[in-house]
Amino acid sequence: MKAFEQLKTYLNKLRKLNYLIAIVAYDLDTTTPPKAIEEESDLLLDYINEYASISRDSNFIAVAKQTMEEEKENPKIQKLCRTLLDESEFLAKIDPKQYEEWEAAYQASNHAWRKAKEQKDFSLYLPYWKKAIEARRQWASLRKDESMNTLYDACLDAYEKGTREGDIDAIFSRLKEFLLANLPIVQLKQGKEPVILPHGKHDQEDLSYDVLDLIGYDLEQGALRESEHPFSNNLSRHDCRITTHYHEDDWRSNLFSVIHEGGHAIEFQNWSDDMFNHYVDGLATAAVCETHSRLFENLLGRSKAFVHALLPLCKEHLKGEFKSMSEEEFYQAINYVEPSLIRTESDEFTYSIHIIIRYEIERDLINGKIECEDVPAIWNAKYKEYLGVEPSNDSEGVMQDVHWSDGSIGYFPSYALGNLYGAQILHKMKQDIDVDQFVREGKFDQIILWLKEKDFAYDWMDPNIYLKKVTGEELKVDYFLDYLREKYLK
Ligand SMILES: [Zn+2]
Repeated sequence: MKAFEQLKTYLNKLRKLNYLIAIVAYDLDTTTPPKAIEEESDLLLDYINEYASISRDSNFIAVAKQTMEEEKENPKIQKLCRTLLDESEFLAKIDPKQYEEWEAAYQASNHAWRKAKEQKDFSLYLPYWKKAIEARRQWASLRKDESMNTLYDACLDAYEKGTREGDIDAIFSRLKEFLLANLPIVQLKQGKEPVILPHGKHDQEDLSYDVLDLIGYDLEQGALRESEHPFSNNLSRHDCRITTHYHEDDWRSNLFSVIHEGGHAIEFQNWSDDMFNHYVDGLATAAVCETHSRLFENLLGRSKAFVHALLPLCKEHLKGEFKSMSEEEFYQAINYVEPSLIRTESDEFTYSIHIIIRYEIERDLINGKIECEDVPAIWNAKYKEYLGVEPSNDSEGVMQDVHWSDGSIGYFPSYALGNLYGAQILHKMKQDIDVDQFVREGKFDQIILWLKEKDFAYDWMDPNIYLKKVTGEELKVDYFLDYLREKYLK
């Protein structure tokens, strides 16, 4: 029997464990009653540990190495085995007891964050968060190899293979310079602030389903529920669920969360059988995933063409002021630029500034230049300096995002990289098909068809190779800057 056939026995088991982990995690975030959170978290931890124990299994490692030898001509299998072996080699360096302690620290910190955020009290979270960050530093010091200079490099590499702090510094310094210099100009140029009236949750929910249908999310293979922080995840091959959060005072929040998470899910739902059969369906990096969510949310979702398709749905479900709203007024309302405190509700222009702030802080935190107790004051100072706003409490400041609470340091740059990749990909897509016309007419099947053939099919590759394959070029920051110039500064 070929080694790959033997490897599949393990891969099927790992895949099932991944699905179980996703199912329990989805349940924890949407449905689990408060008194069951601890025992279901414990269940989740068991599955995570079982997954790790397979990765450490010596026979599994031997079979993966044998597969790599036998399948030299197959790039998908090479990439798969390289990823599996990297993980196994890393786990081999860690005492399993230590691994369990880290996982427990992340979970405890995540729970403390939930409570502290609700009570707007950072001090309830701080002792748990310190342990989680310490765990991440230990993890990063073991993961760091000779190609990495800092602990943050090791964190970043876990999400964006091959990307280093120096790369992000270079990309973000250009982006930051452009955004901070042009923000006052954009604000001066735009019309008056739109009036946003409240709309009930149920109307927003009805709208969400129609919008998901419009953009091509297959509800027969998915679901929409509510959670504190919107997210998406594939729970099995034909089950990619998303969540949203309804804010009655601002319908834009849910609407664009749904389009963002729907964008993620559309990528998952359109992976080819070939990718699935080679077990590379989960290998897209965080930035590549964010490319597609942010492509749907912003590049397409906040375009004039999409307004034409979307406004009738808002008129139908939200009624009220929408009845007499023009496309131009609607476009202004969803593209109004205003420095604000909350990342997930920020406009497309200032969004990357929120990311740059998080990047600067998490880099210094993991590298030991600052400590957890310093972060709220640094956070507030950066918001004041870059955006001119200051949080009145830490729940609308440093505690607003879930990421840091469970040790996910190094993820935030993915969102901004996603913007950059997305602008470059859209430029390419527009050379091939009439994107605006399809979006205007709500023909998202044509957009998805292009993505499926020319983009999703390659998203298992390392991000630099992927981008080159899809667009024919390495990453160029200018595509995104040109897009912003054209949209906001003309
Ligand atoms: Zn996302």
